[in-house]
Amino acid sequence: MKVLKFGGTSVGTVASIEKVLSIVRDSFDKDEKPLVVLSAMSGVTNLLTQMAEDAAEGKGFSENLEIIEEKHFDVVRKLIAVKFQNPVFTKLKLMVNDLDDILQGIATLRELSAQSKDLVLSFGERFSNYMVSKIMEQYVPESEYINASHYIKTDSDFGNAHIKEDLTTQLIQALSYTHANKLLFVTGFIGSNDKGRVTTLGRGGSDYTAAIFGSVLGASIIEIWTDVNGMLTADPRIVKKAFSLPILSYTEAMELSYFGAKVIYPPTMIPAFMKKIPIAIRNTFEPHLLGTRIQFESDKSNYPIKGISSISDISIINLTGSGMIGKSGFSGRLFTLLAREQINVVLITQSSSEHSITFAVNPSDATRALTLIAAEFELELAANKLVMPEVEEDLSVLAIVGENMKRTPGMSGKLFHALGRNGINVRAIAQGSSEFNISVIISKEDLAKALNAVHDAFFAELKKTLYVFNLGTGNIGATLFKQLYKQHDFLLENNDIEIKVVGISNSRKMLFDVSGVDLGSWEEALETKGEIADLTGFIEHMKALNLPNCVFIDNTASKLPATYYEDIFKSNISIVTCNKIANSGDYAQYQSLHETARKHGVDFYYETNVGAGLPIVRVLKDLMMSGDRILKIEAILSGTISYIFNNFVGDVSFYEIVKKAQELGYTEPDPRDDLGGVDFMRKMLILARDAGHAIESSDVNLGAILPESCLSASSVDEFYAELLKAEQYFNALKDRAAAAGQVIRYIGKLEKGKVSISLQMVDGTHPFYALSGSDNIISFTTERYKERPLVVKGPGAGAEVTAGGVFADLVNVGA
Ligand code: ADP
Ligand code: ASP
Ligand code: MG
Repeated sequence: MKVLKFGGTSVGTVASIEKVLSIVRDSFDKDEKPLVVLSAMSGVTNLLTQMAEDAAEGKGFSENLEIIEEKHFDVVRKLIAVKFQNPVFTKLKLMVNDLDDILQGIATLRELSAQSKDLVLSFGERFSNYMVSKIMEQYVPESEYINASHYIKTDSDFGNAHIKEDLTTQLIQALSYTHANKLLFVTGFIGSNDKGRVTTLGRGGSDYTAAIFGSVLGASIIEIWTDVNGMLTADPRIVKKAFSLPILSYTEAMELSYFGAKVIYPPTMIPAFMKKIPIAIRNTFEPHLLGTRIQFESDKSNYPIKGISSISDISIINLTGSGMIGKSGFSGRLFTLLAREQINVVLITQSSSEHSITFAVNPSDATRALTLIAAEFELELAANKLVMPEVEEDLSVLAIVGENMKRTPGMSGKLFHALGRNGINVRAIAQGSSEFNISVIISKEDLAKALNAVHDAFFAELKKTLYVFNLGTGNIGATLFKQLYKQHDFLLENNDIEIKVVGISNSRKMLFDVSGVDLGSWEEALETKGEIADLTGFIEHMKALNLPNCVFIDNTASKLPATYYEDIFKSNISIVTCNKIANSGDYAQYQSLHETARKHGVDFYYETNVGAGLPIVRVLKDLMMSGDRILKIEAILSGTISYIFNNFVGDVSFYEIVKKAQELGYTEPDPRDDLGGVDFMRKMLILARDAGHAIESSDVNLGAILPESCLSASSVDEFYAELLKAEQYFNALKDRAAAAGQVIRYIGKLEKGKVSISLQMVDGTHPFYALSGSDNIISFTTERYKERPLVVKGPGAGAEVTAGGVFADLVNVGA
């Protein structure tokens, strides 16, 4: 035989009950001899709790009672033929009246005992099982409703009763004997004590009922039908990438469910384990899927852990004091006390010095635990051998679980790296001696982020999601979006990276969408749905969302964003930027930014600060990291100046070329911003700093291209007038170069920690001789590349290549 248990959502609506009927009929027709256990319709147990509490406080409950009645009546109207409806309505109405009387009693007494509460809660399962059995009777006349409180015998621990095994076994066996060949619908969740008073088995306890019946009747399998595809690697409501686990051992399932995976109630595993009956967790709404099988032995999964679960609300109590040292009985006394008073200790850690014990409890038990400790250890406290503990609240437990963990070193390292990299502070750690589980206590507000980060770390082959906040939608920003849009599927497929742009801001508007802005229509979305831009607000919102693997992109040329970088790193967010301001300001700022990023384990990538998309910063860093020593760097890093000198040959005048460069949009509105060399100087400064030199911009020896008269001209027009007058000067330069078979180049140089930039003449043997268009070139002379320097050359400007460089940096984040 088989036990089929259906949870609240599976019997929550007319549509879902139809699915249940089909699964049960299928099994019955195949002669699998199913026994069905149903939960209350979804939401009903919570409503009953509410009503009981309301009654005890003298508040009305009849509105909710009507809701419950109507919820069931509605199903009857839709799923039972009219001519059979009446007796069912009558019976349900009688039960509702019964419930009403009980609630009235509670209201009169203004008192809700655990016993009365269990009686009230039992109606949920009684309603649903009676109702569904009557629906099924239309198709399978052998259907029969069973109130399990007559068969499951328990102690009197109302709300969380424990089974009396022998008696229960006898009663269930007798039931099966008298009801052979019947299709039984058995109420989950409820039992009764020796006086016949109704008890409940704990929230989620219908799973347990199924396992008890399965174990007594020697079922071939216990199937738990719910609304997800089995036990998943994490809570799917928090971790969207959680996936279904095909096989789990009883121990693994137990650990995962104990630490919060509520898809199955932890005690369920015990009866199944004792009789080695497999449990399957399956999806009522996708019955063709196999879901998860829980069995004696775990499988050899590809992953070192099976899953990550969590309890979102936990309090910890920390006991310290010299009185604990060497006193072997101390923790015994403490935990016996808590056990006796039914305080469930979720997790314990003890420092090796025995100076302190930290344990976690449900928040509702915390104050009581303190009072108990104060009474039990009164003497020790008075003698100052123990410090009166305090409760720490708003915490969560996160646990990684799996039997393979035992055989795989480095699991805790991986866990702590993922947490640390995302700035999540760990308050306490516990590793069970079984090594099936490592648990950490963290702040509650970090839980969602932690679960996702740890999930990404352990299931690395899975797609990793980067959450991007992009500032600046000019040429580079817009081009980047275009590239990201085009490459989205490719990245997902080939690099297992999903990039979601979740925040966009320009100087006018800003927009957030945690599910990812559609980059096919971001302009429209920003325009129609965006709020008024506010940089501080943008950054605060980004921090508040607390997303894992988060990246801030500064695609502006503005000074302001850089003032936030340090704060952003401190929030464990990586930065990718084409903006040079931050790295070329004071050296102290450069150093502090790099230091902060390193300390917080996040990335700071700015390849496009030098030579647009050309790999220059990366090459320099790789050389240094691999132990090479930089002897000299020579470079032409201004596309504009490069263009001007490359074309300053033959008959054209310098004046004409500058004019043309401006017309082509190669120069700033005032061409002196390029020809003055300041931008070039910034790039050299960044390279020198990355090469390990603590230099300031004032240390750079910046040689002029333009004569003084041009530089001091008061307007752009006047500058051009002066440039025309300086024709002679430039022609002389050009002629001198031509006569010697040389060309004019504006070259930056880093050597022995000194940076200089100057106009030079180079001949055909120099690597910079043949340069065309607006190309950049850089040569690294190093210990390894001494004879022939390492040269990088190519287009050093343009939106397409710059955005491509930002894109490459983005993909490298967290790689
Ligand atoms: P039922 O009403 O069928 O008993 P529950 O609500 O008790 O269902 O349990 C199923 C729910 O458990 C799922 O909808 C899911 O949101 C939640 N859940 C939490 N953690 C996990 C997990 N690791 N795997 C599967 N489901 C989980
Ligand atoms: N109806 C009960 C609850 O909601 C038992 C169960 O669904 O398993 O806790
Ligand atoms: Mg459940």
